Amino acid sequence: MAARSSSGYQIRKCQAKGCGLRFPCQDDYTFKELCPRCGAPTELILAQTSAASEDEDAPRVQRKALVELEALLDNVRSAWNVGSIFRSADGAGFNHLYLCGITPTPDYRAVLKTSLGAEKSLSWTQYLDGQQAARILLQNGLRLWALENNPSASNLYDLEVVAENQPPNQGIVLVVGNEKSGVDPDILSLCECVLYLPMHGMKRSYNVAVAFGIAAHYLGWLARLSES
Ligand SMILES: [Zn+2]
Repeated sequence: MAARSSSGYQIRKCQAKGCGLRFPCQDDYTFKELCPRCGAPTELILAQTSAASEDEDAPRVQRKALVELEALLDNVRSAWNVGSIFRSADGAGFNHLYLCGITPTPDYRAVLKTSLGAEKSLSWTQYLDGQQAARILLQNGLRLWALENNPSASNLYDLEVVAENQPPNQGIVLVVGNEKSGVDPDILSLCECVLYLPMHGMKRSYNVAVAFGIAAHYLGWLARLSES
């Protein structure tokens, strides 16, 4: 799902033989008469005058979460990944992000490029020491669940409910780590459980932002289901 601007947009098609690229562009895009692939003239196929923004269009979950969800990002290096995680966390109904170690905050422009405004609806705090942050969260009664591929991890999809016997004030913090080294072992040892995404194919893990998006969406969904 792409975020659509609220101005109109067009579908255009390249008229060159052997190209025929079909592409969307904003009404106000200066070079829309020319094919972005080969430079030949293009024709207008379709004009969408009042493109309603996806944010108003998309179906929304109405049910309130039975468990508060938050996330701890331990030394996620890439601003692109952090922005993407902001967007996914917002969409999955998370309330807060703890940005730890070198994890860039929305004070960096590069984060805003992929968060697309999600940073405005999602609060965050920065901790330079992620292990210290994890200890504080535990002291405050939160539960830490790490997302990591390791031998003691359990399959995310074996979880059927997250609200079971859950005191309402005891939220869950999903913990993800660095792109290369994963979650700091001293944070991992504070986590109540470690979850993994079952993988097909050659690669044994997803990009951290993709993995976070999958897990966050599933946990957000479970958090809205009742126990019955
Ligand atoms: Zn072309």
